[in-house]
Amino acid sequence: GATIGILGGGQLGRMLSVAAARLGFASHIYEPGANPPAGQVADRITTAGYDDADALKAFAESVDVITYEFENIPTEALDLLEAHCPIRPGREALRISQDRVTEKAFLQGLGLNTAPYSDITDLNSLRSAIGQIGTPAILKTRRFGYDGKGQARLRAPEDAETALAEMAGAPSILEGFVEFSHEVSIIAARGLDGQVACFDPGENVHRDGILHTTTVPARLPPAQRTDAVLLAANILNALEYVGVMGVELFVTPQGLIVNEIAPRVHNSGHWTQNGCAVDQFEQHIRAVAGWPLGDGQRHSDVVMENLIGSDMDRVPELARERDVALHLYGKAEVKAGRKMGHFNRITR
Ligand code: ATP
Ligand code: MG
Ligand code: MG
Repeated sequence: GATIGILGGGQLGRMLSVAAARLGFASHIYEPGANPPAGQVADRITTAGYDDADALKAFAESVDVITYEFENIPTEALDLLEAHCPIRPGREALRISQDRVTEKAFLQGLGLNTAPYSDITDLNSLRSAIGQIGTPAILKTRRFGYDGKGQARLRAPEDAETALAEMAGAPSILEGFVEFSHEVSIIAARGLDGQVACFDPGENVHRDGILHTTTVPARLPPAQRTDAVLLAANILNALEYVGVMGVELFVTPQGLIVNEIAPRVHNSGHWTQNGCAVDQFEQHIRAVAGWPLGDGQRHSDVVMENLIGSDMDRVPELARERDVALHLYGKAEVKAGRKMGHFNRITR
């Protein structure tokens, strides 16, 4: 049978491996770190860095298609891999989502709304951006940020210097603060044949910069629900995308504003594991393997809650509850702020 290559051995890689196995595929994980969560379930794992040309070549030759669970894969590694094996989703989606400035320019080019933004190289450019955009605003590193890391909020123009210091010299972006009523995300999939299917939008609540809960159905009037689906399809089609993408949105009285896109399965899509016949992980494997997309209709109302760090103490109690499905990642070490697992509570 065919083998799916997965770059990254975290919980997303783990759940992709499980989905691949259910469809009869083998999976081969590529991960520099020792004992990754996906290594416990995958058929094969290569422990090597993204600068190891021989390991990358051997990996690419051992699999039939390469996908990934994170977007910060070095370009040179992608070049080496792609010489031997197709990478899905494709390079363009990675290039755009690796950099917040490129990403916002791309989204605006599609006619979508984003926060006002400006790229920042030094204190002068920050000061003039504040003059244009105003405060409150958020300064973020252009690359490598996740879970709210690499961000500093500016309440007033006087915060410029301290905020810039937090970027530690990294190229940055200033974003105007969007006064949203709530946050939603839409998990969308596009098949090799160009078919697009979206999961029902979920409503997201963050705590300390990390996703805390996703609730479906989200509070969205029907017209905005349609907007979310259409804008997601617009993004995937523009990229000739193959696979699952997470699109984070701010809901405002003026309509939906795109926060960011993630060219992969997404934490806010974990509810689909217990809310749909075919979840985001299977949908992603189907897409990258060239299968038809599956039935992602929501059959239940669900609240997904992340188990972060010492939240793991709640597991024995949660394990006794009705209508609760636990998904634990097998991480040996509990650390503050570390995603250890999640659970889906069926609420209807
Ligand atoms: P993720 O873990 O989702 O990749 P991230 O580190 O890439 O997160 P963002 O999604 O850019 O960070 O921001 C994290 C959260 O901060 C958002 O979900 C939102 O709550 C808030 N936020 C970010 N940008 C803005 C903005 N321009 N206006 C208002 N709130 C914002
Ligand atoms: Mg992000
Ligand atoms: Mg985000």
